[in-house]
Amino acid sequence: MVHSENMMARNIRAAVLRKKDSPLKIETLSMEGPQDTEVLVRTVASGVCHTDISMVHHWEKADGPLVLGHEGAGIVELIGKKVRAVRPGDHVVLSYQSCGSCRECKNGRPTKCRRFYELNFGFQRPDGSNALEQSGVRGHFFGQSSFSSYILATERNIVKVSKKLPLTILAPLGCGIQTGAGTVMNMLHVRPGESIAIFGTGAVGLSAIMAARIVHANPIIGVDIMPSRLKLARELGATHVIDSRRADVASGINSIIRGGVDYVLEITGNHRMLQLAIEVIKKRGTAAFFTGDGVPDFVPKGRKAVTVIEGDSVPQLFIPKLIKLYQSGKFPFDRLIKFYNFKDINRAMKDSRNGKTIKPVLCMSNEDD
Ligand SMILES: [Zn+2]
Ligand SMILES: [Zn+2]
Repeated sequence: MVHSENMMARNIRAAVLRKKDSPLKIETLSMEGPQDTEVLVRTVASGVCHTDISMVHHWEKADGPLVLGHEGAGIVELIGKKVRAVRPGDHVVLSYQSCGSCRECKNGRPTKCRRFYELNFGFQRPDGSNALEQSGVRGHFFGQSSFSSYILATERNIVKVSKKLPLTILAPLGCGIQTGAGTVMNMLHVRPGESIAIFGTGAVGLSAIMAARIVHANPIIGVDIMPSRLKLARELGATHVIDSRRADVASGINSIIRGGVDYVLEITGNHRMLQLAIEVIKKRGTAAFFTGDGVPDFVPKGRKAVTVIEGDSVPQLFIPKLIKLYQSGKFPFDRLIKFYNFKDINRAMKDSRNGKTIKPVLCMSNEDD
């Protein structure tokens, strides 16, 4: 492998996954870079997303040791020779990776990037190399691996943000929150007066509810099994809520709006809810599915099922828009956040898994190197 002349190596602290369903261990690793097209970011904070948790659950021995994390935010420390979008000292929020040269990327649709899977789940750079190779660990998850004191990103997955807002709050915008809000605003283009039901009111679902309120959807129906989340759903914009452990969802929705809703967002991944999502949309309605685990086996004619990837969001356009909405008080996503020290990453993941915390954010600056 040929490295550019300015390539350096540094010690970083990163949470390493070495075993299925096991706690991550914070270790010292050696990271080389940045390459000419890369941006080295000192991590200030990282959100924990359900995709990180499911990676721990689906890990196999052949995957080898990995660094997860894909909702990073931090301060640019070094840039490669070809980087123009940011300079050292800039504050940045990181999002998913895309190639920038396929037809979809060139048409401004990076979530449809032909190399999307490989660049976000391949645990390597676009050129196939790996900055953590010296340590026998693989990084570059979503072009980030943000459960780490340093991140190597590229101009494609970096968004420059104002220094006036705390990076600890902005961190989770790069995946879960952008996905929920983007599905309503960029993908489904929900219009005033259209009806929407949201199955699962975690970070993605609550972001969708806030976005639905902004675009004046009505009714906005939140469905979940946790009363505390349903209470928050109401406060953030749901006009109705249904506790699916206590009430029948289909008849509940039918009593709110006869004939079904225009849109359902199915975020739970629960098999019964997948089927139900299709049943409660009206004719020509759309059900949007978030879990890679699949869409229902049967979709009646005239109804539409779509799979969501990052809510069709272009991070450099959508994240600044969400920040403006946050500043104007219309998108109070900070209410979903609970902060943890980096060293408490396993507790943060556990609290997220059992629903105690909606959006854990790890604070790296509290970490003692
Ligand atoms: Zn592409
Ligand atoms: Zn995610």
